[in-house]
Amino acid sequence: MIPAWSILPEEWKPLLAERGLRPFRADQILQALYRDWIETWDAATTLPLELRARLAEEFPLTRADVRAVSQGVDGTEKLLVGFADGEAVETVLIPAKDRFTQCISTQVGCAMGCAFCASGACGLVRSLGADEIVAQYMLARRRGTITNIVVMGMGEPFMNYDATMRALKVINAGKGPNLGARHITLSTCGVVPGFARLASEGIQFELSVSLHAPTDELRSKLMPVNRRWPLDELVEACAAYTRATKRIITFEYTVIDGVNDSRAMAEALAALVRRVPMAKVNLIPLSPVSHRPDFRTPPEKTMLMFLDVLMKNRVQTMLRRSRGKDADAACGQLRLRRSRENGAM
Ligand code: SAH
Repeated sequence: MIPAWSILPEEWKPLLAERGLRPFRADQILQALYRDWIETWDAATTLPLELRARLAEEFPLTRADVRAVSQGVDGTEKLLVGFADGEAVETVLIPAKDRFTQCISTQVGCAMGCAFCASGACGLVRSLGADEIVAQYMLARRRGTITNIVVMGMGEPFMNYDATMRALKVINAGKGPNLGARHITLSTCGVVPGFARLASEGIQFELSVSLHAPTDELRSKLMPVNRRWPLDELVEACAAYTRATKRIITFEYTVIDGVNDSRAMAEALAALVRRVPMAKVNLIPLSPVSHRPDFRTPPEKTMLMFLDVLMKNRVQTMLRRSRGKDADAACGQLRLRRSRENGAM
């Protein structure tokens, strides 16, 4: 039994042949999956009934149900997606003028334990399979055409590398959903071995690195991953990645009031980022999280000071709004609130 949504388009023919099924059905199967966006094999009406029954047995369509929806005033919509074993992850739909972005999760919970992040507050429950990652896209796709994917939901993609990569390859496949690689962004907290692996894939996915602090002392406090792979190693991995792929890296810097927001930090950030060729910075104000009331959103003037210091140091920088705050859109918050409401924590 192989979940259908974990299968790459070119793998269908040999898989059908191995099971004594007709390989020419592969094209009809791909159309049912990625043109008609079927939810059950019964709905694949171009296929004979007996074949649908065999497909349901051999290549099940992963069940994923919307357990809760939370709407933001800015149009973001956050879905809590439940799987067969009862576990759930979040996916966020973010409309904008010219794009419709989906933020997807790769794990239930997260082992990385970043201090400001709700996803890590309860540790890692389990990693998702490639099919469960694709299933989030399928649910969203039925609500509208997705133009961009960001892997910035719950979990650390480089700690679930194989499933994440397989899922993104399925979504990217020409005979699959055909979402362009440059419209797919992976975000990592800095799991260094992932950089060389990603570079060796030869696929032009975008890469973001969550930095959030420019010194080892502070970063190790905020992000335990830094104790394993400190800044020097991280920066070297980033530089090697940009040299090998000729692709830009975007550093994410979440500004936390009174924590990582001094002028000296901004200067240190600029110096760090300039060690990586082809790097840019996104500055994001912290989204408050319920488990850390001491972490507060900085005032606008702090964001502008940071922007100013970076620009003066010729670092390409964008000020980002964090979208969907009222939809609990910072990662992990909807699931955290639901499990509290259900008395699970
Ligand atoms: N594990 C990956 C992807 C998930 S998090 C990573 O760390 O990159 C996606 C982004 O949201 C990361 O940059 C993360 O640091 C950031 N983030 C987490 N909690 C946040 C919060 N409360 N406010 C603002 N950004 C947050």
